[in-house]
Amino acid sequence: MHAMVLTSPRRPLEWLELPDRNPGPDEIRVAVSACGVCRTDLHVVDGELEHPKLPLVPGHEVVGRIEAVGSEVDAGLKLGDRVGIPWLAHTCGSCSYCIHGHENLCDAPQFTGYTRDGGFATSIIANARYAFPLPDGYSDASLAPLLCAGLIGWRSLVRAGSAQHIGLYGFGAAAHLVAQVARWQGRTIYALTRPGDTSSQSFARSLGAEWAGDSTQLPPRPLDAAIIFAADGNLIPLALRAVRKGGRVVCAGIHMSTIPAFSYDLLWQEREIVSVANLTRQDGIDFLESVPHWHITTHTTSYPLQRANEALADLRAGRFDGAAVLIP
Ligand SMILES: [Zn+2]
Ligand SMILES: [Zn+2]
Repeated sequence: MHAMVLTSPRRPLEWLELPDRNPGPDEIRVAVSACGVCRTDLHVVDGELEHPKLPLVPGHEVVGRIEAVGSEVDAGLKLGDRVGIPWLAHTCGSCSYCIHGHENLCDAPQFTGYTRDGGFATSIIANARYAFPLPDGYSDASLAPLLCAGLIGWRSLVRAGSAQHIGLYGFGAAAHLVAQVARWQGRTIYALTRPGDTSSQSFARSLGAEWAGDSTQLPPRPLDAAIIFAADGNLIPLALRAVRKGGRVVCAGIHMSTIPAFSYDLLWQEREIVSVANLTRQDGIDFLESVPHWHITTHTTSYPLQRANEALADLRAGRFDGAAVLIP
């Protein structure tokens, strides 16, 4: 097999040949056909997330077909099946979080493309119980961004509760999917982007956003909730300023720059700030089953796997709309 490998943070990934591995008893080996590039991959490569496995194959939005099956894998999975492999790679099953249905907060989790090798590769080994069946009618590349951007976006939207008027701060891979789900649900979306990013703003309008503007602006009416996808801590006080009394600010990212000090007035009147961490397998099943009903369209820019560094640089610079996908 071949992979784009991180040998140390803040260095370009290297194209390496690695030994083929056979799956363990509860694992599958999947021939990768597409792998999305997520902002979390950027945080890992840039050294903003601590203690990655090294050397590491990043990538946790993996679509492929099963090419080898371990001896104890459920009979529901067989050779040739198309599956998706997400960020959540394994949980302990015995901590209080796992027992009470919050496996996203497991005390001893494993994560694809962070503590286990991921999908910037021609093949990947995954625990079979954490792989998802995928809906028909979508190409491999168009499914890949659903496996993190879509899923975490979905979990964030659920955390926004019954909010009717929702602001999305940062209009990249996750927001472009959430906007479509929210519109389907009859909610109103306001997109807030980097100041002056008129390209993302018109992209947001094309997906049904009622209004799109700079993150430093106030939307035309108070928001019931805001979801922050961009990794910029300065957005938290800006979003608090934009939500109404009792409104909620949902932070969807795994990492953010430092949040600046702000006046308590912004939080007063029962406004809330909450975060979203990881996903549960049930989130994945609920979301992927619903995707065909929502008629979600994913906007992707494909790169050959060996050009992963270019895809990461373009993501860092915001040079494409929607999501980047690597094709081996
Ligand atoms: Zn656990
Ligand atoms: Zn991700």
